[in-house]
Amino acid sequence: MTDNQSAGELIELRGVRRRYAMDGQVVEALAGIDLRIGAGEFIAITGASGSGKSSLLNILGCLDRPTEGCYLIEGRDVAGMDDEAASDIRNRRIGFVFQSFHLLPRLTVLENVLLPLRFHRDPPTDAGAHARELLRKVGLQERMEHRPSELSGGQMQRAAIARALVLRPAILLADEPTGNLDSRSAADVLGLIDDVHASGQTVVMVTHDNDIAARAPRRIRLRDGKVEHDIRQHAH
Ligand code: ADP
Ligand code: MG
Repeated sequence: MTDNQSAGELIELRGVRRRYAMDGQVVEALAGIDLRIGAGEFIAITGASGSGKSSLLNILGCLDRPTEGCYLIEGRDVAGMDDEAASDIRNRRIGFVFQSFHLLPRLTVLENVLLPLRFHRDPPTDAGAHARELLRKVGLQERMEHRPSELSGGQMQRAAIARALVLRPAILLADEPTGNLDSRSAADVLGLIDDVHASGQTVVMVTHDNDIAARAPRRIRLRDGKVEHDIRQHAH
């Protein structure tokens, strides 16, 4: 695809910078990012440690805001929103998967998957059924009533993916989703992420592993907080 617009523009970043102040020093983690992401794309973000990958993903996920520049999601500028509006977008439109799963230990797997509904003003009535369906899809139908501590790492990440999808987000963001997994569990998780993309959702996945990045039709490499290259190729 040569024109994102034809896929339906979902996200646009213009001149995004993110600076952190620490111990009197200022670190510019993102140093001017311009990016457009069309609906339904699957993008891998790569780059060395410290290149700004997580900073970028946190901004895309409305977990953080640019110091400078604008971030438009579905045409609306997140910078101009109050915290409530920004978290509303995050809850309804974005699913997040982290390297370390972030499941709540006291809740069962099913309760963890249902957690995003608690922050939703008007949760869909079929959410409970959808949560169970997702847990079946990720192969955890026998584990719904278990605590996260009773699961393997791969199972925890599959539960986290089900949780990220429970509100049918337009965008799935994953920060090193296989970073803590053995290769077989990693393959399962990557297969699920492929399925999410195949179902039409937009996926942005951070990885420092070039073989994993090669699964994505579009690869963006960051270096020192800037886009070093942005390559599209036909999916294999
Ligand atoms: P990556 O995910 O590619 O490893 P990050 O986005 O985490 O990179 O970090 C980019 C730069 O910003 C690094 O120099 C890092 O130390 C710094 N940084 C990230 N988060 C913070 C923070 N909360 N406070 C201070 N510096 C930070
Ligand atoms: Mg990171």
